[in-house]
Amino acid sequence: MAADSSFAILQFVARYVRPRARVDSLAQLSPELLSQRGIRGLILDLDNTLVPWNTTRLTPETRAWLETVREHGVQLCIISNSAGDSRVQFVGESLGIPYVSKAVKPSQRAFRLALAEMNLSAEQVAVAGDQLFTDVLGGNRLGLFTVLVTPITRKDFIATKVMRFLERLIGAVLRRVPVETESLT
Ligand SMILES: [Mg+2]
Repeated sequence: MAADSSFAILQFVARYVRPRARVDSLAQLSPELLSQRGIRGLILDLDNTLVPWNTTRLTPETRAWLETVREHGVQLCIISNSAGDSRVQFVGESLGIPYVSKAVKPSQRAFRLALAEMNLSAEQVAVAGDQLFTDVLGGNRLGLFTVLVTPITRKDFIATKVMRFLERLIGAVLRRVPVETESLT
């Protein structure tokens, strides 16, 4: 009985952290796939999505991908929970992409700022990030198209490691309930 009710709670939580799609890397989010879904703007997480955790290093593949999506007119905005502004600012400014730091995802505030910055509605925007409880939950709360990206590295902020444990717990439930997650590959 107790096991049943804990499973029900996990199922409830899973509904809010279920991504619409999963990809192994940003490069799999082609402009064609985005436009098929009417996506004209993309909110990007920084750590372990755009760059390895706690760095500002963009791989040549990521740079090429950024170039391609921008050429196709997809607007971009970085939102990061990173406590310091400097890395987010450095990456945003060097790429010419607007950014919001100290975003406190899954709070909706930063996501709303990003929508306003891009002048797009929630239906026109996707969010790509590596964490269920910040990127996916925050995006789902606003009705964005949420894409879970496999983290670039296994290095993480200590609090994130705790969240990874909870993600694995939820992951087990996500596999058991009917999942609407679409495959983009
Ligand atoms: Mg991240």
